Amino acid sequence: MNIEERVEELLEETGALKRGHFLLSSGLHSDRYCQCAALFEEPAMAEEVARLMADALPEDLTVDTVLSPAIGGILWGYELARALGARSLFAERKPGELFQLRRGFHLSRGERVLLAEDVVTTGRSVLEVVPLIEAAGAELVGFASIADRSAGKFTPSHPFYSLIKLNFQTWAPADCPHCAAGTAIDKPGSRVEKG
Ligand code: ZN
Repeated sequence: MNIEERVEELLEETGALKRGHFLLSSGLHSDRYCQCAALFEEPAMAEEVARLMADALPEDLTVDTVLSPAIGGILWGYELARALGARSLFAERKPGELFQLRRGFHLSRGERVLLAEDVVTTGRSVLEVVPLIEAAGAELVGFASIADRSAGKFTPSHPFYSLIKLNFQTWAPADCPHCAAGTAIDKPGSRVEKG
């Protein structure tokens, strides 16, 4: 089993990755759905995913600090920092404001920073954290996400590492084969029983 297959298995076991018939917030229908936060319900599995990422990163990549945007990136950044033996910080913002380092968090000049986000779709959140690294004179060494949902559209100027690419097929309701087959639609936000 390769890394991507193992990550997919862990996401499915924790209910982070689901198969069914879903109505997405965009109004489109899909037969897969990802809520990565569910992975962190199972710390041992989250720890394994972080270890897989640490092993997949280039051997010569030195990371002093893992920085993540709140809230989605915090747990992933923390687990990844643990796996890398690095510091862990998160940036946060109030609605309508820019990301800031609060709680006494501080970046130093020359510090090598890996930006972590659990799922990258547009990449907007992580890109909005980059100015904090530049302002401190620290060095951005790359981006690390569990899942890349950008369909190849997130192409930053620094390396982008991800463990699994999730490009779900979507349909307008009128074209959806699962609707045509009469399958009931799932609400992704509702709790799914395991087992
Ligand atoms: Zn449908």
